[in-house]
Parts: sequence; structure tokens; C-alpha cells
Amino acid sequence: MTDPEEKPIKIAVIGGGISGLAAANRLLELSQDQSRPIDLTLYEAKSHHGGLLGTGKVGNYLVEYGGDMFVTNKPWAVDLCNRLGLEDELIQTEKVNRRAFVLCKGKPVEVPLGFNLMAPARVWPMIRTPLLSIPAKLRMAWEYFVPRRKNLDEDESLASFVRRRLGKDALDRLIQPLVGGIYTSDPEKLSLRATLPRFIEMERDYGSLIRAMRQQSKSGNENREATGARYGLFVSLKGGIQQLLDALKEKVNREATYQTGHRLVGIEPLEPGYRLTFEVDHADEPVIREVDRLILTLPAFLTAKLVDSFAPTLAAPLREIEYASCALVISGHQLSDFNHPMDANGLVIPFVENRKILAVSFTSRKFAGRAPEGHILLRTFVGGALQPELMKCSDEEIKQFTLEELKDIFGLKADPEFIEVNRYEGAMPQYHVGHEQRIEAIQKQAALLPGLELAGNIYEGVGIPDCIHNAETTAERLLAN
Ligand SMILES: Cc1cc2nc3c(=O)[nH]c(=O)nc-3n(C[C@H](O)[C@H](O)[C@H](O)COP(=O)(O)OP(=O)(O)OC[C@H]3O[C@@H](n4cnc5c(N)ncnc54)[C@H](O)[C@@H]3O)c2cc1C
Repeated sequence: MTDPEEKPIKIAVIGGGISGLAAANRLLELSQDQSRPIDLTLYEAKSHHGGLLGTGKVGNYLVEYGGDMFVTNKPWAVDLCNRLGLEDELIQTEKVNRRAFVLCKGKPVEVPLGFNLMAPARVWPMIRTPLLSIPAKLRMAWEYFVPRRKNLDEDESLASFVRRRLGKDALDRLIQPLVGGIYTSDPEKLSLRATLPRFIEMERDYGSLIRAMRQQSKSGNENREATGARYGLFVSLKGGIQQLLDALKEKVNREATYQTGHRLVGIEPLEPGYRLTFEVDHADEPVIREVDRLILTLPAFLTAKLVDSFAPTLAAPLREIEYASCALVISGHQLSDFNHPMDANGLVIPFVENRKILAVSFTSRKFAGRAPEGHILLRTFVGGALQPELMKCSDEEIKQFTLEELKDIFGLKADPEFIEVNRYEGAMPQYHVGHEQRIEAIQKQAALLPGLELAGNIYEGVGIPDCIHNAETTAERLLAN
């Protein structure tokens, strides 16, 4: 029972992306479970919720702006969907198209069956693949005998790890595009420890990735069948990611206050609490609010700006987190306009192929209900950390070179039914070598500020489940005392 005398804790969550929404939802759950009254407001600068995520309609296409799926082996997004009553809305990837292509000398070639981002679980598909030369395959097979790294506790870049264990060709032709596709990063800078620690564990526990995969595949056959990423692990919602965002927003609207058009521009520490200043859309005067506790879920460089005046030692490591930009070209086509069956989840492109696009997701081949019968919805990625100069091109230029690449690679022979460019400037945090130490420094400094917590996609991973888990544990910490 709630004590009628107990004063509600006044809390502000800043940012209406998945991190802010998930944090607000968890605070409401905890308040109810612990019978602890809270007076919660979520403030979002823009007029819509979802941040980098969102779903829309273009004609009869269901278009994802931002992420279009999430993994289930990190259970937090599925758990959240279940708690929101969305369990029957979850959909898996289409079984028939569970494969991926990688571009090899201008042609899409299937990623070898059982190849799991960095490690092969099956030998024959690796031997038969035209993606790698015979010396490159022999070098990969030699991985079995490569000794463990001595200083396994020291961080290492993805590129260094792969060259050391599997060889340069495996890096250039397979692993850079497969892993780079997820992080839009430079593999020479990407921290293996902060992004794919399971491969360090494989080296530590088994002495070899090949040996580890062989042991692990004995316990189930999912790794052996799917190529590239393990596609059985990916899900979305029937109505797109928006369904999750809307369910969260409705709950916050119902049980707390949701304010759009409120951009936080100033934070002043009080004793106790914080005074917040917002610039509000269509208002001449700023709005001032005082709160007991606060969660910021903004990109690191924005948080750094906001805390600099009273916590410069927190702002400094926040500023060290670099961000990359990318553009997403979304296009709808008649399937018959391609000289290719497009029967996969998508294509990734090695940097060494010297193309202007990074990857193409065949969104409507992955999930049902994304395009009308006989049509295909594509999402083509441009830019990232390796090709930042392409972000300087105009939308028209980006559309034009994207269509030329699709024509060259898949034999596209007609104009699309629609094509649009969405830009994500400074949207992808880069988990560079030393990321874990930077995050430790941030968390140590943030812990010195009572009642202030930070959440978002720099802490545990960029994926939707990582953001949800980080936001939920942050909410739990905020209410712990
Ligand atoms: C193109 C692209 C594709 C992706 N694909 C996938 C995918 O398929 N699967 C997956 O799991 N992940 C994917 N990701 C990653 C994932 O989408 C993001 O990591 C995640 O959405 C980040 O959510 P967030 O809430 O932490 O940040 P954001 O979404 O950036 O939210 C921050 C919010 O804060 C608001 N804000 C900013 N400043 C202020 C201020 N001063 N005051 C108030 N509000 C403010 C912003 O408007 C925004 O709404 C993708 C990312 C991109 C860019």
C-alpha cells in the first residue's frame, strides 16, 4: 500500500528514444511494485517519440526508419514486449531467405553456411566458398594452431584480432563487411572487448575459434544452418518497431507525463536535486523545472555539453566517445525489375570492393508484411566511419549512386516505385579500442552526482536490447535509494 503521506519523488527522464522510453517504463513498474510514489515526466526535444527508431507507411510499403529488427539471445527487448502484451506481435525472419550475400569481385556470393560473424562452424561450406582464395582458406584453417595471445586482458582492435587468428583476407573479404555492417565502424579502431567479447572468451577458453565453434555446435544446430548472422535469432513486430515505441509511449502518457518539443538546454545542481531549463517549441520563454532525480539518455556529446559547467570531469570522457554518420536509402521496387532472385536477408560489401554503398538490407525478404506481393523493399546503407566523405553528397547524388550500384550488382533495370534518403548525422557511437575504460571513467564521475544517472547506446551496446537493458538497470539504480 502507498503511504498517503509519502511525497512522490519528482523524476525527469530526458530523451524519448528507446532508452528514455524503456527507463521511464521501468520506473513506473518499480514505483508500482514497490508502492513508491513517483512524479515522472519524460521530456523529448522533437515532436515525435522513438529517436533513431520509427516506422512509417509509403504507399503499401511498411518502412523502418532506423533499426528494423532485434536479437533474441539478449532477452531484454523480447521480455519488454512480453510485459507490454506484445508477445503475439513478434515475428521471426522468413525461413526461406535465411542467408546473406557478400560482394566478391562485383558479384553477390553467399556467406558460407555456418559462418557466424567470425568463426566457421562447418568445414565444407568454407572449403567450397569462392569468397576466399586457396591460400586464404588454408590460412583460416591454420587458426586451429595459432597460439593464444599472451596478454588476453589487453584490449585489441577487431582488425588486429582477425589478422592474427584468421589472416588478412578473412578480415578484408568477410569479417570487415559483416561486423562493420553492424557498427558502421573502422575495424582498425573497433574494440573487440567492447563489441564481441565472446570471441575473446573463445580464444581464452578453447585456444581457437574453430575449436570453440565445433564444441558449441554440438549442443545445437542453429549455428550450423544459418549464414552470416544467426537469422533465427532476429525478430521484429508485425507493425514494425513502432509498435514497441507506441506501447511504451502510451504507458508513459497514461501513468506519467510525456512532453514533446522540450529541449533540455541547462542543468543546475541544487542541494538536493536539479533545476532544468528547457527551450520549448513555439514558446518565447524557456520553461524551468526542478526535480529530485534525473536520467539523461542523450548522445554522449550532448550530455557532455549539458554537464560541463558543474561536472567537467564527467564531460571530458563523454567527449572522447566518437560518433559516425550514415545515410539510409529506402527504396521500393517491382521484384521482377531485378536480374537476381534477391532471396536473402541482404548483402554486405567489403571496403576493398571500392563501392559507394556499405550494405543492402532486403527488408521485405526478411520480414513478412513489409512490401506488396511481387515487390521488394530495400534499405541501403551509405557512409559510416570508413566513407564519411559520402555524407557531403546531396540527397539526389546519394539516390543516384545507390541506384547505379543496385543496377550494377543486382541488374536493376527500372526506376524504383519510390526512393528516399534519411540521414543519421553523428548517430552511431564508435566503440573504439579502450571503450571500456572510457565508460568506467564516465560511470565513476557520474556516480559522484547524487540523483543523476546516464543511459543510452554507449554503455552496453548499440542494439535495441542493449539500450533497453541499460535503461532498465539505470532506472533501478535511480530508485535504489
Ligand atoms: C540507421 C540505423 C540502423 C540501426 N539498425 C538497428 C537494428 O536493426 N537493430 C538494432 O538493435 N539497433 C539498430 N540501430 C541502433 C539503435 O537504433 C540505436 O542504438 C538506439 O535506437 C538508440 O536509442 P537511444 O534512445 O539510446 O538514443 P536516440 O534514439 O538517439 O534517442 C535520444 C533522444 O533524445 C532526444 N534529445 C536529444 N537532445 C535532447 C535534448 N537536449 N532534450 C530533450 N531530448 C533530446 C532525441 O531527439 C532522441 O529522441 C540502428 C541505428 C541506426 C542509426
